[in-house]
Amino acid sequence: MSVRMVDLYGQYEELKAEIDAGMRSVITESAFINGPAVGAFARELSDYLGVRHTLPCGNGTDALILALMAIGLAPGDEVIVPAFTYAATAEAVALLGGVPVMADVNPATFGIDPESIRRLVSPRTRAIIPVHLFGQPCDMEEILRIAGTHGLRVIEDNAQSLGSEVIFSDGTRRFAGTIGDIGCTSFFPTKVLGCFGDGGALFTDDDRLAERIRCLASHGQSTRYLHETVGFNSRLDTLQAAVLRAKLPRLDEHIARRRAAAQRYTRRLEHVAGVEVPAEAPGRTHVWGQYTLKIADGKRDGLRRRLEAAGIPTMIYYPLPLFGQPAAQHMPCLCDSRMQAARLLPECVLSLPMHPCLTAEQQETITDEIERYFHDNP
Ligand SMILES: *Cc1c(COP(=O)(O)O)cnc(C)c1O
Repeated sequence: MSVRMVDLYGQYEELKAEIDAGMRSVITESAFINGPAVGAFARELSDYLGVRHTLPCGNGTDALILALMAIGLAPGDEVIVPAFTYAATAEAVALLGGVPVMADVNPATFGIDPESIRRLVSPRTRAIIPVHLFGQPCDMEEILRIAGTHGLRVIEDNAQSLGSEVIFSDGTRRFAGTIGDIGCTSFFPTKVLGCFGDGGALFTDDDRLAERIRCLASHGQSTRYLHETVGFNSRLDTLQAAVLRAKLPRLDEHIARRRAAAQRYTRRLEHVAGVEVPAEAPGRTHVWGQYTLKIADGKRDGLRRRLEAAGIPTMIYYPLPLFGQPAAQHMPCLCDSRMQAARLLPECVLSLPMHPCLTAEQQETITDEIERYFHDNP
């Protein structure tokens, strides 16, 4: 039996008729750039998320850059980011001449740690970028409180957790990505809502920010050939929008299937000595972009080799904290001096195959192999 980390073809096969029809109609109309499917998808995603504006763009990294440009990030401005995330989060800050200030994360939920953020706020801090890692939102209630106290912007990096929700203590629910000033997401094929290439979007309830983002993503144009400011070109292809329109109505079902798969993993693995299963924080829903174990005592790499030999792929998200990356050695950046979790997690995290097409039988093969490894290596 072959197991894939992510089964992109399986997801296509289930929606083949809708996706093929959508793509065919884009080709027939030949409106490849800014065709009607782009605006239609943006409206449909806005309706799903309950947000005023969805602004499609070229990819998730562009979304982060556009968000920082839209808030007017200036060279030397500090932006607090988690030290344990994909590099794009801090890269966007550095690219614009800002200073990434790296906060620690909560070792149980992998989200940015509000206590660490508090230690890092300075008079130069402009914004916080919480990253909703692996499918679960950060502690947004606390983060909004800190941002409110210090007058900081909040830009959510929601590339991995589209469809997850935060339930606030007053009972209100908000989708991750629609809580801060601006939310950013990616439609990279392996994300929870993925297209057939690159794609991304920004979310905001603020009309002025929305207008600025629209303008920046289109060479700074307010109207055609009138360039108000220096922007760049970042667009969602019409073909990708057609794929996403076909997939969006199935997002809830796909999330439910990811959730069921995560429950099956946890039921089998939570009692295996040596394995720590991922935690679900109360007041947040998890969409299981990744199912990430923690394997202590230096056994992670041995387990990984054993699984690989059995034909089971795994991934290490992420093998280095951001401050350990070579690029971080040559650029201005700051770090929480009490950094702990972000130092340790790269040594022990192991992400298992996770996608809506994962079967109980495949998971049985995976969990049996993990159990046997710990039986042989007590
Ligand atoms: C995927 C990802 C991005 C970047 O998205 P792209 O579409 O690949 O540019 C940014 N941040 C996080 C946390 C991601 O996982």
